[in-house]
Amino acid sequence: MEKREQLYEGKAKKVYATDDPEKLIVAYKDDATAFNGKKKGTIAGKGIINNRMSNRLMGRLEKAGIPTHLVEELSERETLVKRVKIVPLEVIVRNISAGSFCKRYGFPEGVSFDEPTVEYSYKNDELNDPLICLPHILAMKLATREEMDAIRDYALRIDAILRDFWKGCGVTLVDFKLEFGRLRDGTIVLADEISPDTCRLWDAATGKKLDKDRFRQDLGGVEEAYGEIMARLEAADA
Ligand code: UDP
Repeated sequence: MEKREQLYEGKAKKVYATDDPEKLIVAYKDDATAFNGKKKGTIAGKGIINNRMSNRLMGRLEKAGIPTHLVEELSERETLVKRVKIVPLEVIVRNISAGSFCKRYGFPEGVSFDEPTVEYSYKNDELNDPLICLPHILAMKLATREEMDAIRDYALRIDAILRDFWKGCGVTLVDFKLEFGRLRDGTIVLADEISPDTCRLWDAATGKKLDKDRFRQDLGGVEEAYGEIMARLEAADA
């Protein structure tokens, strides 16, 4: 596998072409942003943790029958993935109230839901990733009804699998964001990453936040929290 030109640089990752037109290399950076890029910083070692964590979790999901873009981990920070066209939606699953849910509705943080919720944001930096409903997704042809059925079904299955896995690590999966893409033949697969950047993860015993909220809310101990959550995963995966 030969690494070729850089195709794209995002907030937390770079993407490179390879000699195979259907495969790309993603390289995870330590850069962190929040509030649509208004807050910027670095979290030392984050790229290494997110790369490894995302690959471990996607590997688990694959085994459980969820198709993902994962091909193979290449190094500490780099992973070979299938090339997809990203569906321009953030798919957010919530088990417990937090973040924008609390802000939007004036609702307290930490309330467990009877059933997980699935919602969508339209990925568009200029518009600040607005919340979007299914009829509007269909109206703009961002995805078909069949694709959205598959995406919602995968999102809930992923929630059940990850909730159970994190529970075994003494961690509560509060909420998370997923992105899906289409392979050349149109197959929907899970893409992007699953990491403390994209999930809220609370210590089950103490409620301590072990995710990017430590950076967003200036809670301190950011690197330590990423290290702690990775250690929990490694112990469970061993
Ligand atoms: N999330 C993300 N990227 C985004 C927005 C949200 O990864 O651009 C994740 C976030 O880490 C959390 C979940 O999606 O685990 C729900 O986030 P929320 O809608 O509460 O927004 P936030 O409060 O993070 O802005």
